[in-house]
Parts: sequence; C-alpha cells; structure tokens
Amino acid sequence: MKTTSRKGLTMTRRDFINKTSSVGVVTGVGSRFAISSYSRADQPQQTALPRSVSRAPLRILVIVAHADDMEYNIGGTVAKWVAEGHEVFRAAVTDSARGSFEAGMTVEKLAKIGIHEAEAAARVLGLKGNFFLGFPDGMTRLADEAVVREKLMQLIRRLKANVVVTWDPWARLDDHPDHEIASRAAYWASEFAPFPMFHPQHFGEKGVESCFVTERYYFAKHPLPSATHVVDVSDHLERKIQALLKYESQMRLAYDGYVAYQRTIGVPREQWSKQVSDDNYRQLMGEAIRREAAEFGKPYNVRFAEVFRYVRNEPRYP
Ligand SMILES: [Zn+2]
Repeated sequence: MKTTSRKGLTMTRRDFINKTSSVGVVTGVGSRFAISSYSRADQPQQTALPRSVSRAPLRILVIVAHADDMEYNIGGTVAKWVAEGHEVFRAAVTDSARGSFEAGMTVEKLAKIGIHEAEAAARVLGLKGNFFLGFPDGMTRLADEAVVREKLMQLIRRLKANVVVTWDPWARLDDHPDHEIASRAAYWASEFAPFPMFHPQHFGEKGVESCFVTERYYFAKHPLPSATHVVDVSDHLERKIQALLKYESQMRLAYDGYVAYQRTIGVPREQWSKQVSDDNYRQLMGEAIRREAAEFGKPYNVRFAEVFRYVRNEPRYP
C-alpha cells in the first residue's frame, strides 16, 4: 500500500509508520497543548500530557518567507491555538511578489494583492497581528541576513513572543532560498533576543524589553522523519482551507502552474481538463489539503493532522 507524503514523496505505508514511529501526539484539550512522545511499541492513539513549558499566556510568532507558507503548512494548528485563546502573530519576510503567471502582472501589483489577501486570511484565522518585512520575493539570499535577523529580533521583543514557529532551517529537501534565509534568521533572532547587547537600540522604544523564546515549532515540506509531534487539527481544517482560499492569486498560480506543467510534459488538454478546470481548482485545493492532513493523521487514528519538530529552549545549566 502506498502513501504519499507532501508533494510527491512516495513511500510505503510501512515506511511511513517506521519513519514516524517516535512521534508524539499533541492534543488540544484545555488551555494548553498536551504533549507526549513515545516509542512505536507503546504508541497510543492519542495522549494528553504536560502543559506548555510556559505558565504565562502563549504569544506565538509565526515567521515565514511568504505569507501563505503559514496557511498551507500550519493553518490548522494556528486556528487551534487561536480557538484555545492564545495570541498568534505572523511575520512574512518577503513581499511574495513574484508568484504569478498572469499576463500584465507586476511585482508592485502583486505585492499589494499579497498583503490584501494575507490580511483577509488572517481575519479568518483570528490572528492578532500581521507583519510584512518586504524583502524581495525569491531574492532574500541577496539581502544581508544579519539585517533580516535584526528586524525579526525587534519584532520578537516588541511582541514579547515566547513561542516562535518557522520553517525548519535544517529540514531535508527544502531547497527554497527564501525559506532557508527566513528560517535561519528566525532561529538566530529568537536565540539572541534575550541578550541586551544585541541591537540595544531596540530598547529605546517604550515597552520593548529583552525576551526569552522558550519553545519553537518547526515545520517542513517533507517533515518526516525528523518530526517529533503530530497535532490533531480535525476540528480546524475547514478554517485552514477557508483562510487559504483567500489567497486567490496563489490559488490561480497553483492552477496556472498545473496547466503549464501538463503542457510542458506534453499531456493534451482534453486528457486533464475534465478533472481540473477553471471552475473547480479551488475545490480541488481543499481536497488536496484534506488528503495531505489525513495522511499525516492516519497512523495515529487522527482524522486530520499537521506535523512539527518541537524544541524546548531550556537552559542547559545549572
Ligand atoms: Zn514559501
């Protein structure tokens, strides 16, 4: 039996289970996530365990390269956090202004459309704030990474974020340069935010103080086998899809990309146009998101799931 993980990585079901054998399940009962990890031998279907390390309310900053990275990858978990009363913010490092095949589209136009769509999606999810750093889409390698890091550190301090969620900078098989730079800058920004000698000018702003990020969640295009936690998002997947569909330009991009791909590999339009059309690609996107979340949840008897590598940023000593 075959199971397909994200974007075409195919493995047998046995491989899938083996590769996810020491993954914990995070359930959302109560005001905190419950977290557990376990071996395959004693794998429970669902487990409720310790609270978040923080006794303070969670202030969660999701740092992504492109705004819709959040909805695509972790929109269900974000909806769940919000439903549980946590404050969630998003920072998009780039202006997401080059993802289009449309004739007549420009970087300036798409940057504006992108902000508008991200704000609409944020309203669906109930985000507390949405920030756009505006580095050029696809070009963050040309930016000074230290500058990206400094901007993110300032935001972490302003928001007093105690949880940072980002692309996994050490994930296998994610070769997008924007993901790489954004996630690495996010990691170092969250690591150094408590140290007041990094960018002391930030503290001139009223209410800004050094800030300790105690937990990090990393997501990835191919999250297995390094994933540590599966989050049950069964009650929140439809909201994720509603939010994602607010990115009309990116839904259009997915459709146009599909058409261009079929043309490139030489499949005639009449062979695919009955299944995929201008009228139904939004619906197909929803189905693809449900299918992917169902695959992640299946080994755990969870209807829909999202997958993370979870790290507590605890002091090593004393
Ligand atoms: Zn992206």
